[in-house]
Amino acid sequence: MALPHAAPVAAPRAIDGARLRADFPAFERPTRSGRPLAFLDSAASSLKPRSVIDTLADAYGHHYANVHRGIYELSEDATARYEGGRRRLTRFIGAGSWREVVFVRNATEAINLVAFSWGRSNLRPGDLLLSTQMEHHANLVPWQQLASETGATLEYVAITDDGRLDLDDLRARLARGPKLLAVGHVSNALGTINPVAEIASLAHAAGALVLLDAAQSVPHLPVDVAALGVDFAALSGHKMLGPSGIGALWARRELLDAMPPFLTGGSMISRVTLQGTEFNETPWKFEAGTPAIAEAAGLGAAVDYLTGLGMDAVRAHERELFAAAWDALGGIDGLRRLGPSDPDVHGGVISFDLEGIHPHDLATLLDAEGIAVRAGHHCAQPLMMRYDLAAATRASFYVYNDHDDVERLVAGIRAAQRRFNGH
Ligand code: PMP
Repeated sequence: MALPHAAPVAAPRAIDGARLRADFPAFERPTRSGRPLAFLDSAASSLKPRSVIDTLADAYGHHYANVHRGIYELSEDATARYEGGRRRLTRFIGAGSWREVVFVRNATEAINLVAFSWGRSNLRPGDLLLSTQMEHHANLVPWQQLASETGATLEYVAITDDGRLDLDDLRARLARGPKLLAVGHVSNALGTINPVAEIASLAHAAGALVLLDAAQSVPHLPVDVAALGVDFAALSGHKMLGPSGIGALWARRELLDAMPPFLTGGSMISRVTLQGTEFNETPWKFEAGTPAIAEAAGLGAAVDYLTGLGMDAVRAHERELFAAAWDALGGIDGLRRLGPSDPDVHGGVISFDLEGIHPHDLATLLDAEGIAVRAGHHCAQPLMMRYDLAAATRASFYVYNDHDDVERLVAGIRAAQRRFNGH
């Protein structure tokens, strides 16, 4: 008898950036340059596909009322769409339950929520908190505030010259028993992909909780918070094709249940008397006031769009563009690339310094060619200082980019050099 054949495992469908651009109305807008838009600033905020824009318009137009409280059809409809966005996001990030996914405004608010609610009730003077030298200010400033308010000490894990976390330094600091390690998954300024599962298991062995800043990973690679073994994760909808004004905090249920609320008022209560208040269950305990209703539905549509592409395919696409750009930029005289060269540990972000041309001048010249890049400190000033830079230029890739964008970037930099230095 013939043995049944195993079903072939379908390879992820390769992403065709040029084809996907048809889904994003931003590419229909004429640029000042008259050239097509080469959008290389998705790490700051991504463009939106028509499906997300339509979902938002439909939510506001046909399905809008306040959520949770209305005992009538339109409110039930809006509530189902709001909670539907939460359920989609729950699956997308590998969370065990929708109760562990709290809607907030953005990753910054998610981290502040943890610093406020978990931090103020768990830290004592002299406790140790760890962050790292490669963090976005959103994963630094809340911990500095928390340390100064509680008397805890905040230390930073060092990074190597090629922009990786120094795991020996991490081990040495973990040996002193920190309460929490706040670490980014993918650096917005260097592109480094940190080995989070390994870091989380080292931290847990040392008794520390782990907060993951997943703002730059959830949009760009498969993320499974349960498999990574972290305790908290923060993300923003606007970086993952979704609307601005909505993001999420994921945390293990027992942590959320034990944490006091962040903001208080309506919606986050189950019963209020003049003497006191019983709080609602998680996640609503952390969602005071009227939330971003249509935006939750829009975020759900963004999750559907990314799921349709497949996050393995998204990652493979960005890896390919990164590798091409890294090589091509390496051929430009006076250009210093930041972050690791290995495409396995580098996401779709490349920052660089160009001798003799300030990043703002370079960005302006590129803009005149229709190429949108970011120039500045990328909200990571301590990181820039680590590399003796005040600013850098950053190109970041997403699903609607392709090799043509890489070629235009490289040609634009060469043209800027000719203009500035007569190269
Ligand atoms: N962390 C990282 C790594 C980021 O890149 C960003 C956004 N640039 C943030 C946090 C903060 O995100 P938001 O501004 O959406 O709160």
